[in-house]
Amino acid sequence: MISISEMISINEALQVIKNNIPSPVVQNYFVEEVAGKILAEDIHAPEPSPRYSNSAMDGYAVRWEDVCGAEQNSPVSLKIVGESKAGAPFQEITRQGEAIRISTGAMITEGCDTVVRIEDTEENNGVVHIMTVRRQGQDIRYRGEEFQEGELLLTKRSKLSAPEVALLATVGINKVKAYKPCEVAILVTGSELVGKGEKIAEYQIRDSNMIMLKTAIEESGGKVVYCPYVPDEKKATVDAIGKAQADLILSTGGVSVGRHDYVKDAALENGYSPLFWKIRQKPGKPLYLAQKENTLLFGLPGNPVSAFMCFAHYARPVITAMNGLPFGWPTVSGEASEDIANRGKRTNLVRVQLRWRENGGYCITHPKKQGSHMLTSLTEADGYIIMEPGQNLLKGERTDVYRYDFRRDPV
Ligand code: AMP
Ligand code: MG
Repeated sequence: MISISEMISINEALQVIKNNIPSPVVQNYFVEEVAGKILAEDIHAPEPSPRYSNSAMDGYAVRWEDVCGAEQNSPVSLKIVGESKAGAPFQEITRQGEAIRISTGAMITEGCDTVVRIEDTEENNGVVHIMTVRRQGQDIRYRGEEFQEGELLLTKRSKLSAPEVALLATVGINKVKAYKPCEVAILVTGSELVGKGEKIAEYQIRDSNMIMLKTAIEESGGKVVYCPYVPDEKKATVDAIGKAQADLILSTGGVSVGRHDYVKDAALENGYSPLFWKIRQKPGKPLYLAQKENTLLFGLPGNPVSAFMCFAHYARPVITAMNGLPFGWPTVSGEASEDIANRGKRTNLVRVQLRWRENGGYCITHPKKQGSHMLTSLTEADGYIIMEPGQNLLKGERTDVYRYDFRRDPV
């Protein structure tokens, strides 16, 4: 157990978080509801695909033994005895010397074993002249040629997107087990804050954390379920934490050493057990973590950049883990295009830009304005690198870049 008065390292903090992630919840969902969710079961085919042998072309279903000698200068002529349409098959057996009209996707009728496409035929007076054929069985999609009944179609932990729901629909599966998206409450604290569109006095601050976190949570696959503003008052903070029913509570502000910072006390009063307070990092030193039953509460710092960086490195992986994905970060390797040094005493989360080079690979540049009150250090960045105290990343050296969700394809 880490003493809460002790400042800990990034890796120690991550270990504590991993040990306390609320258990993921698996639910049955209709396929209409699963876009973006993660599958929580293996799916086996309840039936083969195609379900019945059908035509790959508009043309004529025929018997190979009738048509195998057909050539341009000696076509084979067959009597057209019926039609098999998509959704309306021909019910009789096709006999020697007969052909049936067939549409793409229509069932191959009994007796036929080959399809000749319209382009290779001529038709007049109820007779079709087959001008050319390639092989027995041509242009037929056979029952089960894609997969047989019982074959594994989708594996547990696949992401459910348009192709996956289409595959489920095609085999008649209407409901699947998927991970329930992590439910998140956001408590934005601060008596100096003014909400969207409100008149602002000289000594007030426009809130940016609420909209920032809502957006980041949604981009990470979480669901915001409660999001009050909380003044810097003990009772209001206790009440807000008490009302927050979620897997994850993210408060911003009020976790430093100020006289009006109530988040830690209010969490305690609500029965939360503190897990750590303060990480040897910049930005985001005052990050606080507490737990009660199946809920984790992150007290993020108030500075928007600190709050965002703590979200990206600590809270976002909890959301992805609860959603059925690994606890981790999207990373790419990048090469420093200039020297970057950490001369401070804390581990530095340095916001960086990625550039794709013509000869391949990413290179890293480093916006100079890195203040934790400077949101442009985020808008100008594609991700961040982690630099230990005293570390000097030299031009040409490679390092991992933790990439922001919202910068999938930096150029
Ligand atoms: P705190 O951690 O509450 O002491 O806040 C640290 C700094 O971040 C202060 O300058 C606050 O005014 C600022 N801040 C806190 N919350 C927000 C917010 N929601 N939006 C913008 N700035 C904030
Ligand atoms: Mg505050």
